[in-house]
Amino acid sequence: MTIALSQFDEVRLDRVSRDFGALNALRDISLTIRRREFIALLGPSGCGKSTTLNCIAGLLPVTGGAIWLDKSRVDTLRPEERGFGMVFQNYALFPHLNVRQNIGFGLKMRGTPKAEMDRKVNEALALVRLQGQENKLPGQLSGGQQQRVAIARAIVIEPPLVLMDEPLSNLDAKLRLEMRAEIRRIHNELGATTIYVTHDQDEALSLADRIVVLRDGVVRQVGTPKELYEAPAHLDVADFMGFRNKLKGKVVAVENGRAVLDVEGARISGVARERLSPGSSAYAAIRPDDLEVGEAGPNAIAVTVDTIEYRGREFVGTAHSAGGFDFVFRSHQAVEPGSTVYLRADDGRVLVFAEPTQGRN
Ligand code: ATP
Repeated sequence: MTIALSQFDEVRLDRVSRDFGALNALRDISLTIRRREFIALLGPSGCGKSTTLNCIAGLLPVTGGAIWLDKSRVDTLRPEERGFGMVFQNYALFPHLNVRQNIGFGLKMRGTPKAEMDRKVNEALALVRLQGQENKLPGQLSGGQQQRVAIARAIVIEPPLVLMDEPLSNLDAKLRLEMRAEIRRIHNELGATTIYVTHDQDEALSLADRIVVLRDGVVRQVGTPKELYEAPAHLDVADFMGFRNKLKGKVVAVENGRAVLDVEGARISGVARERLSPGSSAYAAIRPDDLEVGEAGPNAIAVTVDTIEYRGREFVGTAHSAGGFDFVFRSHQAVEPGSTVYLRADDGRVLVFAEPTQGRN
């Protein structure tokens, strides 16, 4: 393989901040990314994902902190001096240049000799499986093919770091799945180091070696997909990891890592994920898959069914409790809208979080 990405040990963000006037879009972001890692930056709209990526790329100056590539400080360098590969959501291809010219653009700008350029472009074309398309203009390609050109263009310059900002969000669902697998294959084949921005939990879980969850410009949790999925450290991370049912109650007891809540008079117990004290407010978080329609009893709460939809293997229902909590649940049996049923969950599948402060939830 002639494409050989520049080698380094780690990229380090050291208390990086970025303000836009009075808005603190990033606050003290510290993060170490190791060579060959695939890192997903995950979080809701406006949490600072793109700002983080743009600060790393050099498209936005940081307003505090520093970014290091091993022992070299890079946040003071211009984007082209950092030489990171960028892939954007909207592809950002040159419409008047054909596929080969688009991919070779960065090499040409660097004055790469023609023979070497041809060799590298051919290899990038093969890597993204676009041989035979090299003379087409972007307008003659499908969305997925255009995204492949954008990826080839990013990696052909042999960057130490590949930065991707929601690269799949303009593709339809089927293509998104295909390209997701392609992006991971290319990352593996090249031995690349990739930072990938997404707001899609599934994408982050399936692609990344480690996920960084951001909220309001702050890192909330960093971990492997399994760690985040099974053991979210905060309610907002749990929310992002699919714990859609969040029931507020009062802590009745805490013992051996377990907490019991009073939720509308029902006793709900689960795994305490944060420090909890009896009498304080807390949330029980439960995935729809972990709720079952059952009898009154421990860890069950009465709800009125609002909707029920047939989804082939099962039904998906929505419901509400007397106190006004909304529920999403799955069921193997149809239940009548308007009827009252009990939804219960095993206490090992319920996570309990302290009530968030300062407007976070
Ligand atoms: P999305 O998923 O919607 O792209 P994001 O997580 O990437 O969101 P950012 O684009 O990084 O979020 O924005 C973080 C915050 O900074 C937001 O509140 C946004 O409005 C603000 N912001 C971003 N760019 C600018 C700018 N150029 N000027 C002023 N505010 C900005």
